[in-house]
Amino acid sequence: MLQKADRIKTAYPTEFTTLLGTLAARQNELTPPQQELVRYLQAWKAEYDGQYDIAISRLKATILATRDVTLKFRAKASIIHALVVSSHYEDAFSELTQLLLLLPRVSDPAAREQGLLVAAQLYNEVGQYDLAITYARKLMDENWLGRGVCKGYNEKLRAEVASGKQRVVGPEFNAAMDACTQLNELSYANFIRSYAATVYVANNQIDDAIRLLTEHYAEVLQSHFPRLISRYESLLATAYQKKGNVAAAHQYALRTIENGVPNEVSPPLVAAYHLLYEQARQSGDFKAALDYHEKYAAMDKGYLDVTTARQLAYQRVAHESVASRLQIETLNKENHVLQLEQALGAKAVENSRLYIILLLLTLGFIAFWAYRTKRLQLHFMSLSQIDGLTGIANRLHFLKQAQASLESARKANQPVCIILFDLDHFKAINDKYGHAAGDHVLKQTVNECQVFMRSTDLFGRFGGEEFSFLMAGCGPEDARIRAEQLRRTVAGLTYDSGTVASGTGAGSPISASFGIASTSASGYDLRLLLAHADTALYAAKRAGRNRVAVFDTNVAVIVSTGSHPTLEPDGADSGALAGAFMPRAS
Ligand code: GH3
Ligand code: MG
Ligand code: MG
Repeated sequence: MLQKADRIKTAYPTEFTTLLGTLAARQNELTPPQQELVRYLQAWKAEYDGQYDIAISRLKATILATRDVTLKFRAKASIIHALVVSSHYEDAFSELTQLLLLLPRVSDPAAREQGLLVAAQLYNEVGQYDLAITYARKLMDENWLGRGVCKGYNEKLRAEVASGKQRVVGPEFNAAMDACTQLNELSYANFIRSYAATVYVANNQIDDAIRLLTEHYAEVLQSHFPRLISRYESLLATAYQKKGNVAAAHQYALRTIENGVPNEVSPPLVAAYHLLYEQARQSGDFKAALDYHEKYAAMDKGYLDVTTARQLAYQRVAHESVASRLQIETLNKENHVLQLEQALGAKAVENSRLYIILLLLTLGFIAFWAYRTKRLQLHFMSLSQIDGLTGIANRLHFLKQAQASLESARKANQPVCIILFDLDHFKAINDKYGHAAGDHVLKQTVNECQVFMRSTDLFGRFGGEEFSFLMAGCGPEDARIRAEQLRRTVAGLTYDSGTVASGTGAGSPISASFGIASTSASGYDLRLLLAHADTALYAAKRAGRNRVAVFDTNVAVIVSTGSHPTLEPDGADSGALAGAFMPRAS
């Protein structure tokens, strides 16, 4: 019953009304979706009956309540028509926007036809002819039950004639009329003829226009469709006026007004009043002319108002949808910016990590560089302080250290002794075995002597085969004992075919002479101490070498060999050399 009611609603309105009443009475037997469909059909009937307010509220209720996309779509398509007829243009366009958004989700062909048709009609009403043509073409493409070509053509040709795109009556018009006639959609066919007649009139093909309109005028009258009838009569009036048949033109103009939709302002009425005004003016009936002109002017203004209101509504809705699209775009952009910011943040973290790594590498490099520099510096410093051959302090370094050591000993009031010793007849070793052998003897002698060094002692190479000991906290007697120890050690060494041996007795003997100076005798002046030690050393050499001599102010120089010191009288040279720091005549 429901399906039948839905199907026959336009063709058999009376039977539809009866069926709908029965369905409403048996609501309880219906499922919720079926009940929704009944309510939709009730709304549709209210619209059909011209009760637009009731229709609109019922359709809105259906749109809100239903989850069925197709039914929602059908209700929206219906509401648009009701809104237009009741002059709620803005609401109509808002609904249309939503309807077109729903369109892709609707597959029911009847619902789609209803939607596409209402879109094409509404766009035609506001002069958006390109959009009207787009939806008309869709109608023709989908061509449900063969009706799409007829209804689509109707909207398409209407848009094309109104926008001046159709300048001649071409084969399309006949194709359209045939399609509608075959479906027995006579009103559609006649509307299409009226568009053809409009083109004829515009092209001054007056006879063609009159022939076409007159041939179908009776059929049009039978349709009882006021809009269609007034279109025909208005067109006939214009055509006859152009042809010069004033009487016929007058007749059709009056009929246009008579048969027009009551209270509706429409282009046929505007044209009819204008024609009557022109005729009255030309015949000199100024009173009638004024009368018609007033009506013409009111009608024209009314039509303009309606058109303007529709267009304004369209523009406003179009702008609103543009605005909301812009808003969405703005949000999308903001979203994009946020994503970029996030990516940027991640990059910044990555960058700062890289910076930290770079910094650490730089610090590492600097540390490594500083370490190397320090090592080199230390290396060069040791090179400048150490004697290359023997590895003990060189002369300069020994003097520096000795100076410092003497300073602190002076402050602590401690005795200090200096021993100078020189290898005996060293030149002979060089001459006999060669310079390399001499070097070897020098190194070995230092090694043997170092065994007796204390931590507070300083040991340095003073010249070629001359060495010096500085002993802090040591008096002259102690110094003599230690010098004697050293002398014995050196005297125990022999040299033979590349080796220095200790205590073997074989090979060339090695010995050294020792000179000692003490602070108790010479004071804390390093130059004087060294000069006195040198004097003592010279005395030891003169006394026959391989012995120890101590510089003493009272006894001049005491020279010892082994544990038996020998006394040597203070010579003239000893006094002469006392003040000399350096060379000693050998
Ligand atoms: P004296 O007992 O009087 O000291 O006699 P001497 O031969 O030791 O003294 P002299 O001053 O006449 O000779 C010192 C020699 O020491 C001369 C030089 O060839 C040698 N000499 C100096 N420095 C080195 C060195 O570094 N290596 C070697 N192999 N010989 C050196
Ligand atoms: Mg020597
Ligand atoms: Mg010498």
